[in-house]
Amino acid sequence: MHPYDVAIIGGGPAGLAAGIYAARAALQTILLEKGMPGGLAASTELIENYPGFTDGVSGPELMMQMYAQATRFGLKVLSSNVESIIPDNGLFKLKTDDDEIKTKTVILATGAQPRTIGVPGENEFHGRGVSYCATCDGAFFKDKAVAVIGGGDAAVEEALYLTKFARRVHVIHRRDELRAAKILQRRAMDNPKINFQWSRVVKSITGDQTVEKVLLKNVKNGATQNLDVDGVFVYVGTRPVSELVSGLIDIDSNGYIITDEEMRTSIPGLFAAGDIRQKLLRQVVTAVADGAIAAVSAEKHIDNL
Ligand code: NAP
Repeated sequence: MHPYDVAIIGGGPAGLAAGIYAARAALQTILLEKGMPGGLAASTELIENYPGFTDGVSGPELMMQMYAQATRFGLKVLSSNVESIIPDNGLFKLKTDDDEIKTKTVILATGAQPRTIGVPGENEFHGRGVSYCATCDGAFFKDKAVAVIGGGDAAVEEALYLTKFARRVHVIHRRDELRAAKILQRRAMDNPKINFQWSRVVKSITGDQTVEKVLLKNVKNGATQNLDVDGVFVYVGTRPVSELVSGLIDIDSNGYIITDEEMRTSIPGLFAAGDIRQKLLRQVVTAVADGAIAAVSAEKHIDNL
């Protein structure tokens, strides 16, 4: 079997941008994605800070356009779960659920996944009130009360989005200061539907068939209180999906892949791009830049083989 030039693992913004650049450079390129292409960006209602869209753009729309653009240049997309990456005499073998793929280079763009808070009730009520995607589930909470956990950009942005449906949105944050961008903070503070529960953590999520209450603990004085809510949206950050290469390449203590500016990992021919990298800013705009650089670096690597 003739090897591909480039195999991209992951179909979020970084993977699709790499696909656009690699396929447009006439490299034989395959993208492997185990779920729906689009990544976490596809579950964001509105992306306001991606350049070129004065009024913002919906996450699903932006990702659909990136997908269409990549396939127009000839990117082959396969719905498949990669189980292992095996370096093999200067090439790579990718074992998937039902196949084996040979490639000269690999661009790892598996991104990050929502983190859980690990409290009683979180697992049990997942899909019955507990959600990690306001865009997907927000509409189920029309005129209801919901809790949003976290104080970063995602928590505040999604809390604002949920005010379209819910009558009350409690933002539960473990400190008394938000991490989110100032513009988001201002909008949330000005929104009469949003109520901040400062310096509190969730100890448990309870209910009968669906979520009914969260038990909060004040981290300053230890006081506990029950809050009546119908839904809980967890936005406490993300974790890298880097299990595929643990033990294979250099990874930092949080699981993020260490690369240089050309997206090279510690194994020649294996590149990483997007949220999975150790980096300062995890946004669509930096993910697509990483993807473009990784594709150009892969091309350079192939030229030198
Ligand atoms: P994040 O910036 O890491 O924020 C996570 C939030 O959850 C923090 O406020 C943190 O509290 C809190 N937290 C973490 N662990 C917790 C726990 N166990 N219990 C309770 N609270 C906990 O994550 P994010 O908001 O998901 O954003 C991820 C990345 O995407 C960021 O780089 C962000 O800028 C980017 N993003 C950008 C936009 C945008 O620009 N519009 C939108 C969404 C996401 P502390 O503050 O106390 O640490």
